[in-house]
Amino acid sequence: MSDSRILFRDVQIVDGTGGPAYRGNVVVSEGVIAEIRGGSGRSEDEIIDGEGLTLSPGFIDVHSHLDFTVEDNPHCANLAAQGITLAVAGNCGYSAGPIGEEMAEYQETRGRTASVGSVGDWFARISRSGIGINVASYVGQGNLRGDVMGVGALGPPDPSQLAKMRTLLADALREGAFGLSTGRDYVPGCYSEPEEITRVAAELGNHPGSFYVSHLLDESAGLVEATEEALEIGKAAGVPTLLSHHKAVVPSNRGLTKESLALVDSAVEAGLDVRLDAYPYDFSATIHLLDMLPTRLTNPGEEDVMRTLRDEELFAPVARDLHEGYPGWTSALADFEWGYTILQSPGFPEMAGLTVGEIATKWNVDPAEAVRQLVLADGGTAVCSLTMSEEDVSRVLAHPLTAVCTDSAAMDTPRGNFRSSVHPRSYGTYPRFFARYVREEKLLSLEEGVRRCSGLPASWLGLDDRGVIKPGARADLVLFDPEGISDTATLENPTGAPRGIRMVMIDGRIAVMDGRNTGILAGSVIKRSDSAR
Ligand SMILES: [Zn+2]
Repeated sequence: MSDSRILFRDVQIVDGTGGPAYRGNVVVSEGVIAEIRGGSGRSEDEIIDGEGLTLSPGFIDVHSHLDFTVEDNPHCANLAAQGITLAVAGNCGYSAGPIGEEMAEYQETRGRTASVGSVGDWFARISRSGIGINVASYVGQGNLRGDVMGVGALGPPDPSQLAKMRTLLADALREGAFGLSTGRDYVPGCYSEPEEITRVAAELGNHPGSFYVSHLLDESAGLVEATEEALEIGKAAGVPTLLSHHKAVVPSNRGLTKESLALVDSAVEAGLDVRLDAYPYDFSATIHLLDMLPTRLTNPGEEDVMRTLRDEELFAPVARDLHEGYPGWTSALADFEWGYTILQSPGFPEMAGLTVGEIATKWNVDPAEAVRQLVLADGGTAVCSLTMSEEDVSRVLAHPLTAVCTDSAAMDTPRGNFRSSVHPRSYGTYPRFFARYVREEKLLSLEEGVRRCSGLPASWLGLDDRGVIKPGARADLVLFDPEGISDTATLENPTGAPRGIRMVMIDGRIAVMDGRNTGILAGSVIKRSDSAR
């Protein structure tokens, strides 16, 4: 903890409550906001001139995936540089704990390093080794199911399995987790029926302030039904419900968020506590088209893949796999009705922006054949993604219950340990939100924009002393130029650094100054507490 007094002189204070900005001087001492005052008379140990700049609470990223990367990237440099001072891990059904042998092995197969242990063990481990930003976590429902029933187990749990999952959840909540997250279309959460999730989630009711977080079963044509399912689960469990990275993917589903948000509004009217998070981009995680091919083809190594693709006869069974999948592998391309959009194709640059299905129609070939030709022409470097319409992205961001999130991992060096393509949201989310949606499109005022990144998510987590600027609050702060803040991370250069952020402070210590990470590990684990409520 720093015991020097730092004065932010003559700043525009946007305090995270949504209230109007005002000018003043903010004094930070011993990790907290000691004083907010007019004038500037007294001398402080360190003075940071805030003229022309805005001081806001640090950004709270309620949808992070730093679980399996934070130990190798403790500074979370890509996140801190954006102004994030607290990130919540454990989303989409997966968390760093509690995790047993089976789920740890499963994560290894997906290229993630996981250590067996409880969420409390993970908290202790990262606290000991040090973290650059504050970290909290939900519990992944996939972890519970995978370890109690087996990763590949189908069918409902028996009563003892159900009880075991509830006990694991209860223990994790007591250790400080904030809720239960599901990844409804990820293994093994996809094998759960709503009733099972409702019965596990009912445990949340015994832990005040905890809530249910859902990566929906379907963000495509079935978005509305999937939203309904999540709201029903939250209602039946009697706890608040957070809908993760809310969006409608695949061009043919444009406009569906109008209906999903109408469902949210009527649930709220009926008394349910509903929350949303979203990232400010019109395309989801990016992937090389090569990685969409059946794993039994791609496993042996790329050279064999290309040989198979060149030979039409050898390709025939692959085409069948692409259409039908096989036990243990689902064809995402066919699942989304060939609705993946090609974002970049060096071999066919003119095809960028079209879906695989549209390209197949244009070429008058089967979609699997279009995939073959695209991968062959590019040597597998074509990048595809599920895309959203700008209209849907704006509609979700404009909704008063939406907080901004990155949906990203921690990366200290460009790309961290990532082998596959990095989404620019990992580096540009918050600057982009303020540049594009607040300053340029005026979708939200600066005050409301800041609230969506700080005060709103802090209230969901029940944190009274974070997410707002007031005397006595923890000094998690961002100093930025509201006219100059912008993102430079793009599809072509996904690790581009933000612009216009002067300083990021975590618990009174400066983590980032003028774009440079100071190397100080000022973060700590933020835990929910049963007794504090
Ligand atoms: Zn997700």
